[in-house]
Amino acid sequence: GDYNQKIDYVFKVVLIGDSAVGKTQLLARFARNAFNVDSKATIGVEFQTKTLIIDNKTVKAQIWDTAGQERYRAVTSAYYRGAVGAMLVYDMTKRQSFDHMARWLEELRGHADKNIVIMLIGNKCDLSSLRAVPTEDAEEFAQRENLFFMETSALESTNVETCFLTILTKIYQIN
Ligand code: GDP
Ligand code: MG
Repeated sequence: GDYNQKIDYVFKVVLIGDSAVGKTQLLARFARNAFNVDSKATIGVEFQTKTLIIDNKTVKAQIWDTAGQERYRAVTSAYYRGAVGAMLVYDMTKRQSFDHMARWLEELRGHADKNIVIMLIGNKCDLSSLRAVPTEDAEEFAQRENLFFMETSALESTNVETCFLTILTKIYQIN
């Protein structure tokens, strides 16, 4: 655990995206290796931390979850303050949640540091028969907007560790 460890870096990363795309479950999977089938939107801002080693340095990831404030413009500037990374999450079975990525990105860029590392995440890839967002559409958007991109499943644990490690490594490299 985090006990009695020398921390070299603390990196704040914010999760953003529509309600019910799986932000809270991605964080639960990464931070506690847990998944809650009946996850409910809760009110207020929360974060969880996980300490990991990158390039022989001890990095404490502080991952913030919007917890029920996903209405347009409801996320306050305090949420974005000091963030060095952001994960823009959509549900690949809900086209609308992907279409809203441009607006979340605009809001993020309006609040965040210009050097913030941003990763686009298409979650729920376990539901492939219900896919509503082709991988190529997301790749094209990510390329145009200069974002990293990955498809994940918080349920099956696919790419969850990898996407957090990828963004934290990129953050480490530029800080
Ligand atoms: P949030 O509002 O973005 O925080 O979304 P939640 O993490 O609360 O998840 C919303 C719903 O989607 C819950 O019923 C979760 O169990 C479900 N869910 C989250 N991630 C996945 C996933 O990767 N696959 C599937 N099939 N369901 C998921
Ligand atoms: Mg949530």
